[in-house]
Amino acid sequence: MRLKKIVSVPGLWKQSLMARLVGSFLFLSLTIVSLVGYIAYHQATEALKASVFDRLDTVATFKAGELNRWVEDRMLDVAFFASLPDVRRSAGTLLKSGPSSPGYQEAYTALSHIMEDILAGRSDPEEIFVLSAVGGQIVASTNPEQEGLYRPKDIYYTRGLQGNAIQGVYASPMTLKPTLTLATPLFDGAGEQRLGVLAAHMNLNHMDQIVRNAAGLGQSGESYLVDSLNVFVSADRFGRLEFPKGVHTEGIDTAVSGLNGSGIYENYAGVPVIGVYRWLEERQLALLVEMSLEEAFAPARILARNIILVGVVSAWLLTLGIYVLARQIARPIRTIADTAMQVAQGDLESTVPVLTEDEVGILARSFNRMVGEVKKHRVHLEDRVAERTADLKEINARLQHEIAVRKGAEGEIRTLNEGLEQRVQERTSELSVANRLLQRAKESAEAASRAKSRFLANMSHELRTPLNIILGFSHLLNRDERTSSDQQESLQTITRSGEHLLALINDILEMSKIEAGRTILKAQSFDLALTLEGIERMLRSRTEGKGLAFAVETSPDLPRYIRSDETKLRQVLVNLLGNAVKFTDEGGVILRVRRGEDGPDASRLFFEVEDTGVGIEAGETGIIFDAFSQTGCGEKEREGTGLGLAISKQYVDLMGGEISAEGLDAGGSLFRFDIRFEPADMAEIKVKSTDRRVTGLQPDQHAWRILIVENNPQSRDLLKRLLTVVGFDVREAVNGEEGVDLFHRWHPHLIWMDLKMPVMDGYEAARKIKASPGGQDVRVIALTASSFDEQKGDALTAGCDDFVSKPFGEADIFGTMERHLGVRYLYEKEPQRTGVAASGGGNSHQAGPDDLAALPEDLLKELADAATACDVGSVASIIDEVRKIDGPVADSLAELANSFRYDDILALIKV
Ligand code: ADP
Repeated sequence: MRLKKIVSVPGLWKQSLMARLVGSFLFLSLTIVSLVGYIAYHQATEALKASVFDRLDTVATFKAGELNRWVEDRMLDVAFFASLPDVRRSAGTLLKSGPSSPGYQEAYTALSHIMEDILAGRSDPEEIFVLSAVGGQIVASTNPEQEGLYRPKDIYYTRGLQGNAIQGVYASPMTLKPTLTLATPLFDGAGEQRLGVLAAHMNLNHMDQIVRNAAGLGQSGESYLVDSLNVFVSADRFGRLEFPKGVHTEGIDTAVSGLNGSGIYENYAGVPVIGVYRWLEERQLALLVEMSLEEAFAPARILARNIILVGVVSAWLLTLGIYVLARQIARPIRTIADTAMQVAQGDLESTVPVLTEDEVGILARSFNRMVGEVKKHRVHLEDRVAERTADLKEINARLQHEIAVRKGAEGEIRTLNEGLEQRVQERTSELSVANRLLQRAKESAEAASRAKSRFLANMSHELRTPLNIILGFSHLLNRDERTSSDQQESLQTITRSGEHLLALINDILEMSKIEAGRTILKAQSFDLALTLEGIERMLRSRTEGKGLAFAVETSPDLPRYIRSDETKLRQVLVNLLGNAVKFTDEGGVILRVRRGEDGPDASRLFFEVEDTGVGIEAGETGIIFDAFSQTGCGEKEREGTGLGLAISKQYVDLMGGEISAEGLDAGGSLFRFDIRFEPADMAEIKVKSTDRRVTGLQPDQHAWRILIVENNPQSRDLLKRLLTVVGFDVREAVNGEEGVDLFHRWHPHLIWMDLKMPVMDGYEAARKIKASPGGQDVRVIALTASSFDEQKGDALTAGCDDFVSKPFGEADIFGTMERHLGVRYLYEKEPQRTGVAASGGGNSHQAGPDDLAALPEDLLKELADAATACDVGSVASIIDEVRKIDGPVADSLAELANSFRYDDILALIKV
């Protein structure tokens, strides 16, 4: 119950079918009733308005007619009096003669009597009087006070002389009351002479009566007259006292303006009225007939009220009926809904009583049938559930059994696990022992590797340094005239063996570096054509020496500038071409170079070296790239190390290509390889200053002090000569200790520091110098004979600023000093490329023996002695002497001296 109270109106509307039915009917009925009431009221007022207008119009027409008639009747009355013979006669006497004349008094009395008689017999005239034709003097009047007065300007007088005249309502100057005056001319007895005027002032009582008569105007209706000055015209309401500015309403103003009409407006008292108005032109008066709206429309209001009353009552009755009907329809539906609720809550026994045979009855029956079906299904479902429960119970039991079995298995697994863990622990401890052993083995392998590196570094130093010297000096000795031919032969053997040994050492070192993974690709941009040209020039002298043909074939699309490792490419080509020349005695050698076709090959260069020599057996092609492997012919040759091809293969691998070899059917062999390259721009290829030959120092520089610390006297000597010739101030120290001492005393700008020395090695000396005052200002450059980077790294750690590897070229020496000190050199005019120069390319200005023969003999002898003694200073000063005689010859000699080619200088002098 409480819940129901809380339900809101919208809630009720939604939930109750009955509420919706009843509400809708009520709303509809009330709407219709209101509409009907409104329409009825509207039509009734319209009809009433028309009928009231008609009525008022009739009244107005009637009253206007009445008024006119009354005035005209009175006019006829006055005219009749004037025509009476007694009146004419008496008036004639009175008007024609003076008062003193006989009969005057008599006539006056007679006339007065007649006029009083008339006045007494009529109610309308107020006063009757006679005016003289001349001057308008009142000669006789029913009001004696007026006699003797003159009215010459009054309208009724002036017009009355002419004929019948009516002066409309006006305020009488005498009485100040509204007055209507009628006048007519008076003739003599014969009716010929106009003697004066007979006039009568009328009282307006009758007129008032006509106007005020409210017959047909209901309770509130009234009619009244207003003159042209908006002043009420009636006996009791005349004047401006009540309305000083005149009385103004819509009706009055319209009528006074001369128009007739009707309308609804507010009257002079502010009451809404329905009115009809007329302008009475002859009377110069406005006649208004009005009735209050309230009274006029009262029937319409009553009609509407009645309609609404009846409508509302009918609506309520209808609603009541509908309520009863709705209850009857809704109740069985409600019963079905309640039963459905019970069914939903699980009570499948409840049924709906079937009370009717209509749609609701059908619904109840269907519902009952549906509940029956549900009940059947529920029974079935319960059976199914019971079955499923039994199944589940069985499954459960099986699962329980399985779990028990599993638990047993788990126990076993746990036991096994424990055993396993123990085994793992055992294995782990075994492994850690093995690991330790492995670690130790690795450490000892690394130690061995380090020892090998150290050994190779030492070897390279120990072997290359003396070999360099042996070769250098055996060259010099070979040219000495004091050397016998036997000795020369021996010297040649020494040179050959030395060179072979040096090559072997270099190859072994290179292989070691490759194996240690320390050889890397050093790609740089270079001029491929120039490189090939240099190699061709180098090989050509050898092929010519052996009487072999030699050709280099390049494809037209070969790029000129490329980026790759030029040194390695050069080494591979020199090795392959060298082998080809070595193993060919007849015929020739061809080098072919082409660029790869389109696709990925476009960035590859393909090389072929073909010869007509001994060739290679089919079975040998697979092994010749192995280290130290030589074929039969190679062994026979007794030259070579068997490492060249192995190194070449490694280099080709590094350059991203492959190498292969094959024996040709026609004899000879063909080596093929390819490399990857990137195109380069000419601008990227710089001609290094050090590529050009240094001839001296530019003036206006420091007097550069250079200290050489080197225990090997020959090496020291070579370096000293190289530097002195150019113009450096050079001092020498034979070990680190001396070097440090000289540094303190002499303050050099740069120190060339050998690393392996007795007493104090180069590392220690560098450390000491760098730690001393001024040590940071001096540049210390390490000289190392090792190819291994560890030694270089150690040197830098010790404080060295840079390093140069032995055997060094002069470009390395001068370039390093330029970089560190900013030394500026003088160069020979033509730039020379290292590769081309190394191949023995000649200077075009090279002086010949004839040029030298032109020089003074004693000067030539001095030069020969100095060159034989390798006396750098003397050779330089003698060349200066030569320059005074022959500049170009002096340049040629200086070039040879700068590259220590004293043997060539001697050869030129001797020839
Ligand atoms: P080597 O220094 O002995 O020449 P290489 O590795 O360069 O070492 O060559 C290995 C071997 O391959 C040579 O000894 C030779 O037997 C064989 N060989 C190399 N080039 C040729 C060639 N053009 N013709 C015939 N045999 C060659």
